[in-house]
Amino acid sequence: MRDMAHEIGLKESEAIHEIIKNIEEGVYRNEAVSDITFEIFEGLMDIESLPEKKKQEIEKATHIGRVSGYRFFSPIINSLKEIGGSGKSSEVVFRAIEKITVDKKESSLNKTKLKNQIERAKGHLSKYGYIYSNPIGVWNLTGKNWESGIFSSQNYNETKDKFDAQYITDEELIKRVKQSINNVVKTTQITTNIYKRNHYVTQFARRKAKGTCQLCEETAPFNDREGRPYLETHHIVWLSAGGDDSAENVVALCPNCHAKMHILNVDSDIEKLKIKAGENLTA
Ligand SMILES: [Zn+2]
Ligand SMILES: [Zn+2]
Repeated sequence: MRDMAHEIGLKESEAIHEIIKNIEEGVYRNEAVSDITFEIFEGLMDIESLPEKKKQEIEKATHIGRVSGYRFFSPIINSLKEIGGSGKSSEVVFRAIEKITVDKKESSLNKTKLKNQIERAKGHLSKYGYIYSNPIGVWNLTGKNWESGIFSSQNYNETKDKFDAQYITDEELIKRVKQSINNVVKTTQITTNIYKRNHYVTQFARRKAKGTCQLCEETAPFNDREGRPYLETHHIVWLSAGGDDSAENVVALCPNCHAKMHILNVDSDIEKLKIKAGENLTA
């Protein structure tokens, strides 16, 4: 057990070293540097386990304090779990502060400052799909798995490639594309939850939409093979977040708007769709 931890520890520091080196050598695009810390560490390692000096080194290299934001992620997630996956902002923040201030170093920090930092950290958790806020002021876990402190060497290369692909310079990208010519496609096994949908509910939303997207209100972009306007059904409160598979939670959207809801899930869009779903039932 001890040996394993030791081995993992070494890999973590190697990975960090590599990142810092790459930043210094300009492999990454400049404007992307501020996102590096979070992205690269997501699911890879627990920043809290690093020595203070290493943390500072990363912060300096990335010109941001996002490393310090990262340490709020686990307290936020755990606070939400404690209260059943969903809670008011004030309650989550209060609980998260309690968890953080257990650490002596933090107790001197001013609570308002901590509160703001937690709110900001929540923004990142939401951006990366761990939390979504709906309705305003309530935080909900989406069900996306958060594993803090787990460094897996199997997923390190995978995550790093994904990250690099987004953030390296054009020059570096071309270099790597050339290296990947004739690369064998690798496969991996994943497990996933399949949600069974009620066909009557989805058909109901489609028919009520009458060929028009319920978000942008444009006509469906094409007809399917049967000549029916192509719209996709969407659960306003996602099934993965505990949403109901019922008519008041389902709308019909064009593929663009459907993608928008899954990528941005903007509050104003959510509100509009709730009204539309309600109209489906009454009109
Ligand atoms: Zn649309
Ligand atoms: Zn959807």
